[in-house]
Amino acid sequence: MSFKVAIVGATGNVGREMLTILEERGFPTHEIVPLASRRSLGQTVSYGDKTLKVKALDTYDFSDTDLCLMSAGGSISKEYAPKIGATGCVVIDNSSTWRYDTNVPLIVPEVNAQAIGGFSKRNIIANPNCSTIQLVLALKPLHDAAIIKRVVVSTYQSVSGAGKEGMDELFEQSRAVFVADPITSKKFTKRIAFNVIPHIDVFMEDGYTKEEWKMTVETKKILDPKIKLTATAVRVPVFIGHAEAVHVEFEKPLSAHEAQTILRDAPGCQLIDKHEDGGYITPYECTGEDDTFISRIREDITVENGLAFWVVADNLRKGAALNAIQIAELLISRNLIKPKSAA
Ligand code: NAP
Repeated sequence: MSFKVAIVGATGNVGREMLTILEERGFPTHEIVPLASRRSLGQTVSYGDKTLKVKALDTYDFSDTDLCLMSAGGSISKEYAPKIGATGCVVIDNSSTWRYDTNVPLIVPEVNAQAIGGFSKRNIIANPNCSTIQLVLALKPLHDAAIIKRVVVSTYQSVSGAGKEGMDELFEQSRAVFVADPITSKKFTKRIAFNVIPHIDVFMEDGYTKEEWKMTVETKKILDPKIKLTATAVRVPVFIGHAEAVHVEFEKPLSAHEAQTILRDAPGCQLIDKHEDGGYITPYECTGEDDTFISRIREDITVENGLAFWVVADNLRKGAALNAIQIAELLISRNLIKPKSAA
């Protein structure tokens, strides 16, 4: 059994990573169609040792395509995902547009695979926010052990989370600093080179940013609506890899040692937690890795039944492309998707 797969946003950061991961994992496909805007017509992308020509999304006919991996931004997902889903092609969407729709499952396969069944009303499955994915991977086994009441999380998010333009801006500004050229900001609201910015996505009425709101709402949808979560989302001058400082308050006691034992065996997680110089993982080291890394586990001395820890993952892989492809693999393993043709 093999599938015809379209990648919308194939020229972008996430789309390119999807092509790499599909090939790496030997995803069962007989045809891959890279799609982007008309601006990219004539461009090519790599899939293993093959070179594929990019086609325009707005003229592509999805009627014989089985699976669409979408990462071209919220407005494109809003317009196209329902139309593509209506052709019988299953859409796995990376934008935030469909995540909060009750008819759209929001899935991290290691955490809530059981929720995938409800996708057929719209034929859309949502990939959570990159910061949510790595957080819930660490929270889930701890929640199962001691029931989470409240989470306080501060993020340190790399510029690749803002697309290829975000990476270009950090590179250009860093170069400009060294050669004393004027510094211009387009993608970010302030200079990002040698700086940090406590602002990702738009401001909400209550003073939180939408990125922070997403982490709260998505954690509730994926894990447990009873969990209270407050986030501060910060952009940092790192190209790839998001880090998070997490403080969790539990209903039941859970020692740091018990949490280490649990997280050592948690699916999709790796524990690197030595209380010595370098005995923890940083974003630079997790680039290109599939796992979410957990370090610095300690008991929070300010609260009863509290733990603090550090979580790091490659935001383009587990935070976006890899998670989407794992969702597709889950559909196949549960027989929830069938090829339209007999190929
Ligand atoms: P990016 O590097 O800026 O790439 C954007 C892609 O969208 C490009 O391929 C671009 O094609 C395409 N695109 C833009 N306008 C289009 C149009 N009118 N029609 C068709 N394609 C169009 O961005 P990215 O980092 O890959 O992120 C893409 C999406 O994934 C965003 O929604 C982002 O929020 C989401 N994302 C999600 C996560 C997650 O954790 N779930 C993580 C990172 C990103 P051209 O090259 O032709 O312009």
